[in-house]
This record gives sequence, C-alpha cells and structure tokens, in this order.
Amino acid sequence: MIADNLHAVAQRIAQACTQSGRPVDSVRLLAVSKTFGPEAVQQAFDAGQRAFGENYIQEAVDKITALSALPIEWHCIGPIQSNKTRLVAEHFQWVQTVDRLKIAQRLSDQRPPHLPPLQVCIQVNVDGGPTKSGVSPQEAVALAQAVAELPRLQLRGIMCIPEPAPDFIAARAVFMSAKSVFDAIVAQGLPLDTLSMGMSGDLDAAIAGGSTMVRVGSAIFGARPTPATA
Ligand SMILES: *Cc1c(COP(=O)(O)O)cnc(C)c1O
Repeated sequence: MIADNLHAVAQRIAQACTQSGRPVDSVRLLAVSKTFGPEAVQQAFDAGQRAFGENYIQEAVDKITALSALPIEWHCIGPIQSNKTRLVAEHFQWVQTVDRLKIAQRLSDQRPPHLPPLQVCIQVNVDGGPTKSGVSPQEAVALAQAVAELPRLQLRGIMCIPEPAPDFIAARAVFMSAKSVFDAIVAQGLPLDTLSMGMSGDLDAAIAGGSTMVRVGSAIFGARPTPATA
C-alpha cells in the first residue's frame, strides 16, 4: 500500500518533470510522516524511501529515536519555537523552516560538534498568506546572507507553503515567484541547490515552477486524522 503509493508519486514526479522539459531525477521526494507511527516510516523505508519530514518536534524525536538504526535523513518542516531549537539541532539532519536569525543562531550554537553541519532552508512567505510563517520575499536575501555566515549551518535553499491556488496556472505562478526569490539569493553568490515546494495536491504545478524537492504526506501515507482540537 505505502510502497504502491510511493511508486505512484514517483511516477507523478517523473511525468511533471518530463512535461517541464526537466530531467526526471531533478526533483527529490521528501515523505512527510507526521501523525504516522514508526511502522509506517519503516514500510516506506523498506520500499526505498530515505528522506522523511516531520512537523511536530516531540513526536518527531520519539520516532527518530525509535528508528535510529535506520540511515534516514530527517527534515524538520514545522514551526520552531526557541525552546525547541536544541532538540532540532540534536536530532535532525535538515531544517526547512528557518525564518528568523535568532532561531538560526540558536540552531548553530546548539548543533553538536560531532555531527555534520545542519542543512538549512529559509522559509519564505511567497504569497503573503496571513497565517503562514516565513520571511517576506523582500527580506529573504538578507536573512540568507546572515544564515550562510553561521558556522554550524549549511544553507541549502528556500522552502514555501503557498495557500492553495484555484488552478494549475495560478499555482504555477506562485511557485515561479518563489523560484525568483531563489534566483535572487543565488545571484548574491550563495550556492543554493534546494527549492522545497509542492505537496500532494500541487506537486505538479510546483515542479513546473522549478521545485527541486516536493514534500508529500497524504499521497503516500493516506489521510491524516484530524486533531480533536482543530
Ligand atoms: C503536512 C505537510 C506537507 C504534506 O502535505 P500533504 O498534503 O499531506 O502532502 C508538506 N509540507 C508541510 C510543511 C506540511 O506541514
């Protein structure tokens, strides 16, 4: 089931790449396993998946600890409060949701010396969505330059979570605006390789807009239970 879903998502990615004239291996798949247990991650791992994304820090740390024997690349893709930076710095390989210098500084300070630098994306609020975290496109270059200076972080790119758009063309336009933020940072001499955008519902438009990493949850693991408090 999970293996079949992974296969179907890989085919969607390949098709979107082909339609955009891009190499089929130019987009990485991040499997978003939030709310699903270690067994689901294990199943996806057994089907060949190696990179997983988690939103809720404590839930993630429990899962990472339970699966520590597996060579998984864990990405933090949820909001990070100051009091959670140490857990993130100690347990994850990547953080995609840096949107304040203060958080980046804490992550760098708290990254254990025996681990490689933490791989970082800056979260950009590309469409001005009201409830979303993320730095504005105007502030993204300056934050990227500051983050790139931090000794225990390696800046890899930007990520965004735009509001759902009415159709493919509108969605692609928003993703293209994220690509232009990415290009503006690269033009400042920072060698980015990761443009993280696109989820189960809009990964095709994101790839048409230049995504190099799609973050896919429900299309792999199924529908998530709605939290009782939502
Ligand atoms: C939950 C989540 C995803 C995956 O969403 P799906 O619609 O289930 O594919 C991707 N990115 C972030 C930041 C998320 O929180």
